Amino acid sequence: MPTIDLNFDRHHLWHPYSSVTNPLPVYPVARAYEVFLELEDGRTLIDGMSSWWSAIHGYNHPVLNAAVISQLQQMSHVMFGGLTHAPAVTLAQQLVNLTPEPLQKVFFSDSGSVAVEVAIKMAIQYWAALGKSSKKRLLTVHSGYHGDTFAAMSVCDPVTGMHSLFKGTIQEQYFAEAPACRFDDPCTDGDIADMRMKLERHHRNIAAVIIEPIVQGAGGMRFYSPHYLTRLRELCDRYNVLLILDEIATGFGRTGKMFALEHAAIVPDILCLGKALTGGYMTLAATMTTNKVAETICSGSPGLFMHGPTFMANPLACAVATASITLLENQEWKRSVLRIEAQLRQGLEPCRTLSQVADVRVLGATGVIELHNPVDMAIIQRQFVDKGIWVRPFGCLVYLMPPFIIPNTELNMLTTAVCNIVESLP
Ligand SMILES: *Cc1c(COP(=O)(O)O)cnc(C)c1O
Repeated sequence: MPTIDLNFDRHHLWHPYSSVTNPLPVYPVARAYEVFLELEDGRTLIDGMSSWWSAIHGYNHPVLNAAVISQLQQMSHVMFGGLTHAPAVTLAQQLVNLTPEPLQKVFFSDSGSVAVEVAIKMAIQYWAALGKSSKKRLLTVHSGYHGDTFAAMSVCDPVTGMHSLFKGTIQEQYFAEAPACRFDDPCTDGDIADMRMKLERHHRNIAAVIIEPIVQGAGGMRFYSPHYLTRLRELCDRYNVLLILDEIATGFGRTGKMFALEHAAIVPDILCLGKALTGGYMTLAATMTTNKVAETICSGSPGLFMHGPTFMANPLACAVATASITLLENQEWKRSVLRIEAQLRQGLEPCRTLSQVADVRVLGATGVIELHNPVDMAIIQRQFVDKGIWVRPFGCLVYLMPPFIIPNTELNMLTTAVCNIVESLP
């Protein structure tokens, strides 16, 4: 087996959010299976990240492998312009069945960020078709994350999303305070007052509100009250603004429901899916909308929805997404997520009293330790690897979101090692 040339990597490869002149070490993975990442030197790490929310069934899953191989023998890709295929149709059927009834139209794209771009375009085209071309801007909340392309960036948290760096290039959007009501709390008038005020003041210019339901992910790992979403849905209706829910991180079981919107039992006008859609196997995303939005878009000029990626509805990705969703259909994931939730609570709770720790919170298969001070990645990443676990903090947040298949023993090892390292922080 060829060894991975780390020196070449160091001198030629960009990694996510990295410096090429002063890169942090990267760890060479030789293979991955179940809940383990096997490094080239033979060490195995217990995966606490699901490769950023995506590998919900773990790695090298026989059913998912078989789906890719079987599709590969038919065709790996054909263009989606003027052609269609069984993997796309089957997956779209599953998505239409799985999501709330009004969401009937599916647009496939390659990544979460693009699914968000597509959602934004849909909202703008919708109002343009109704002759309300002033409704072009977005309203969102602080501490959000929606991706790294420009329109998606424009609705990320202005501080963590580095809006000052790209000022003049990024569209300026409207921001309301992040929801402050915690998951188990009601949402008071005060909790939604800023959102209500921004809608009241600016709705004539607003095409849509975009928000991550229940869990604000990469913008701060915050969990908020389903009641906030119920009230937000009412406000959007009152002020004639579409509601885009970005379920790219939360979709497919992570919060204990198939989709986080189910906690609030609301229906968005537009829904973005990605990440765990393919069980972490391939890059694929989807933007879904209602017949009303879709038909309105197509009633206006130019009568078409204006987007069409080269790799739209890639058959390999669609086939493995179908296999992943089929694995979820036996509902086993619900028991797993409840088990993980209980064990994360128990395993992370001892950290709460540590002087380094500001907050501990758990929802579904996600556990977060918020620290008072940002971690030093150069040091802490190595400490995790030396303890045999794969955890990738950012800023003040050390968080776990393991694959749903993680056994209790490995989950216990994960939380114990995390608590030990947090305790040893300066
Ligand atoms: C990761 C993420 C995105 C962006 O998805 P990519 O596939 O990285 O482009 C968008 N929204 C949310 C909520 C995400 O977590």
